[in-house]
Amino acid sequence: MKLARFDKDRIGVVVDSNIFDVTDAAGVDPMEWPPVGATRLIADFEKMRPALERAAAEAAPIPLSQVILRTPVPWPNKVVAFPVNYHAHGAEMGAGYRATNQGFFLKPNSSLSGAGEPVVLPETPGREVHHESELAIVIGKTCRNVAAEDWQDYVFGYSCLLDMVVRGREERVARKAYDTFCPVGPWITTADEVPDPSNLRMQLWVDGELRQDANTRDLVLNIPGMIAMASAVMTLYPGDIIATGTPEGVGPVKPGQTIRITIDHCGEMNVPVIQGQGGSTEIFKDPYQLVKKT
Ligand code: MN
Repeated sequence: MKLARFDKDRIGVVVDSNIFDVTDAAGVDPMEWPPVGATRLIADFEKMRPALERAAAEAAPIPLSQVILRTPVPWPNKVVAFPVNYHAHGAEMGAGYRATNQGFFLKPNSSLSGAGEPVVLPETPGREVHHESELAIVIGKTCRNVAAEDWQDYVFGYSCLLDMVVRGREERVARKAYDTFCPVGPWITTADEVPDPSNLRMQLWVDGELRQDANTRDLVLNIPGMIAMASAVMTLYPGDIIATGTPEGVGPVKPGQTIRITIDHCGEMNVPVIQGQGGSTEIFKDPYQLVKKT
């Protein structure tokens, strides 16, 4: 199933180029705040699935082009992110570490946005904002200390994810935390529709220029390893998102450009980049230019 969130916190099932509104069957109140309906739906998904399928079959199709796709899980417990998890990206960054020994960081939930929403650049003159194309894993069940061989029991599905970042040497979280710096979507493809997540081609273009082209088979710390490592430290909850790391080819984006990301079985997002107002901070007062090592 392709499970989406659209317009004002509505839940939809995507089939081909249409979306079917299943908000009522999902038990989601679009007026609810905080917007935890999608988180709860993932927790209850096995029980809810037949009702969702019935509701989707009875709903009128809405062309995807007529809705605004939002981030599928707006209020997870956390977004976990693995830095330097492809060797070739580590080489281009001149990083002497990998996710296997460096571990992970967190992105704030407030950085999440959807496929139908722009990336809004902050006013940080002298700094580049880079795209990082990543596969997102969405956790399906509460878990702690998961053995690597049991990883599949805890995955709900997969999405495309852009880990946007202000380049520099400052604290990683601050550089990756701006609002709209974590587009996820266009929907969640449930795990049963992704036959082999360790063999997914992922590509990213900026205005038609292919920048990143990789396969998840080249992850340094693989998907079972990431779930084992994160859950060794923290309880993972339904709806938690894991950003699995970016391959080589990161680069700057400018206002007016469009970032396109595609991942096998996960669909594609075309995310416009616009200049926002605000976001200036002393953290980024000094200019910085990334000089790639390869
Ligand atoms: Mn990243």
